[in-house]
Amino acid sequence: MIRPRSKLRRGELTPDQKEAERNRVYARAGGMCELRGEDGLPLDKGHWPGVIPKDGDDPWNHGHLVHLHSKRPAFWSEAQGNVLLWGCPACHLIGCHQRGLKPVVPQ
Ligand SMILES: [Zn+2]
Repeated sequence: MIRPRSKLRRGELTPDQKEAERNRVYARAGGMCELRGEDGLPLDKGHWPGVIPKDGDDPWNHGHLVHLHSKRPAFWSEAQGNVLLWGCPACHLIGCHQRGLKPVVPQ
């Protein structure tokens, strides 16, 4: 569920466009966390194995659309030049945001 904002930021997708991008990345990933380090292992030991629910009220209980580059300069979608991956809560929130780890892009 994506909460609508009153005004879009520069280059920001509409809520429908964001939902489409989210669905596309989720389907491409098969709903599984794609966040891995150089060693091929998940970014966090709390990694969620298997298919992660796409949506939910609690961010610790659903998957995340992960932007590899920050959204202001690199924008919101892959069509605009960003790189997006599907991530589980632990790898995204702890691995990327708390520990500052950068996932490798799957080939
Ligand atoms: Zn993970």
